[in-house]
Amino acid sequence: MDKLIARAAEMVINSNLTLALTGAGISVESGIPDFRGAGGLWSKYDPAEYASIEAFRADPEKVWQMLRDMDEIVSAAKPNKAHIGLGELEKMGYLHYIITQNVDNLHQEGGSRNVIEYHGNSNTLSCLWCGKKYKSDAKRSEFPPRCECGKILKPDVVFFGEPIPPEALSRSFQLASSAKVLLVIGTSALVSPANTIPTIAKQNHAKVIEINMERTHLTNSITDIFLQGSAGEIVEAVVQEIKRRGGGNHLM
Ligand code: NAD
Ligand code: ZN
Repeated sequence: MDKLIARAAEMVINSNLTLALTGAGISVESGIPDFRGAGGLWSKYDPAEYASIEAFRADPEKVWQMLRDMDEIVSAAKPNKAHIGLGELEKMGYLHYIITQNVDNLHQEGGSRNVIEYHGNSNTLSCLWCGKKYKSDAKRSEFPPRCECGKILKPDVVFFGEPIPPEALSRSFQLASSAKVLLVIGTSALVSPANTIPTIAKQNHAKVIEINMERTHLTNSITDIFLQGSAGEIVEAVVQEIKRRGGGNHLM
């Protein structure tokens, strides 16, 4: 493992464009369950039943029960060693962008600035009927929160069946096409189209470093270095190794 960490650190040090693609697994150590792991929120609410736009349109009140429980977990969560380590890497000039599938804001809380929110953000709510937008904080006392037109509001996160925010989609495509190194952290890479990012990067000759508790379908196909373990521990080890080898700041 030490050898693999050293190789990964060296790849990052030698790259002039490094991206991270993160998924629910990076926030598991912050107490937010992922979709695939057993137990927690998703044993109570099947994402297929609750997280699709059809489900929301058909019964927004029911979907808001899940959203309220999720909000409770997410608002209590704090960034873990993986979020903080990526924030440090950005400050040192070794990590240029994070593309996250998460909607929990933990990268920003962990000190990252260049975060592309591929699946949106839950800080705002929109009305699917009249288009009006609200700050989530302003609607916290209402359940379910309603627009002034009377309809139930939807958080600005991407539900299954909804399009990716166009700017996040095009920016991610552009970055993936020119990245030298891609860190894929805590994602099963089963959700489309986010899972095209590793393929696009690889086709354009990026090195792919995958960090996950378990092997995924990427591991044997496009991953160059697989670092098996928890995101917090592995990211911390990679950051330490980069500091040891590369020293202070990376000149870009
Ligand atoms: P996923 O649940 O499909 O996969 C999570 C992956 O993380 C798995 O491969 C698992 O082995 C791995 N993992 C679990 N714990 C880990 C740890 N401690 N360290 C490293 N790896 C770990 O998640 P996905 O691929 O992101 O797809 C699910 C979709 O649902 C995405 O859109 C996701 O962002 C969304 N979602 C978001 C949150 C959140 O915002 N925190 C939580 C649940 C689901
Ligand atoms: Zn409205």
